[in-house]
Amino acid sequence: MSGQAALPTVAPTALPVAGGGLFPVRRIYCVGRNYLDHIREMKEADERDPPFFFQKPRDAVVPDGARVPYPPFTSDFQFEVELVAAIGRSGRNIAVTEANSHIWGYAVGIDFTRRDRQRDARDMRLPWEAGKSFDASAPCGPIAQVSDHSRFAHCAITLSVNGVERQRGDTGQMIWSVPEVIAQLSKQVALEAGDLIYTGTPSGVGPVVPGDVITAHIDGLPPLTIAITQPEK
Ligand code: MN
Repeated sequence: MSGQAALPTVAPTALPVAGGGLFPVRRIYCVGRNYLDHIREMKEADERDPPFFFQKPRDAVVPDGARVPYPPFTSDFQFEVELVAAIGRSGRNIAVTEANSHIWGYAVGIDFTRRDRQRDARDMRLPWEAGKSFDASAPCGPIAQVSDHSRFAHCAITLSVNGVERQRGDTGQMIWSVPEVIAQLSKQVALEAGDLIYTGTPSGVGPVVPGDVITAHIDGLPPLTIAITQPEK
């Protein structure tokens, strides 16, 4: 290939690193149904099902402090607070015992969901994109570089709307641990530095409306605050 680009170059996506610098984002993977209490509140899966994955577009990432317009094509726009593992080293068929060595750091993220479209997908056996993969659907806080992985295997994960706590869980409630998630996912695709993995949500998911302010916390990580604004014209 040669010649000039026909259009301006697409801007890269990057997230702030806690303490300074930028983390370049490559792909965004999400785990479906990884906390038992959330599976039970959704009433839609066998609790012993293996983990499954879906993707969001890279440019769906929005940083801490972002104002997110209420999205089109839904009347049931919901939050899911999740621990995000940021991959720093490539690999395929990664062993569970090696998985932590591929993690550069962690962040707190929100898997924004058009719950009505996700239910349509279930009922009509359609793909999940309309419910999960849309503009600004992947807020992610600053990424903290981490060498001690054990503290994030069992830590509090919470989300509040307008100061009222709506989700509270512990990452130790995950059905598939972060190393197990990485091992499974790396059997399906080659993981690369810059990949983000959203690792599932505890119970308490619910809707938000314009004017709401969401704050998500995981012990040991910088918090994530997102404001929901009026829909874009
Ligand atoms: Mn989720």
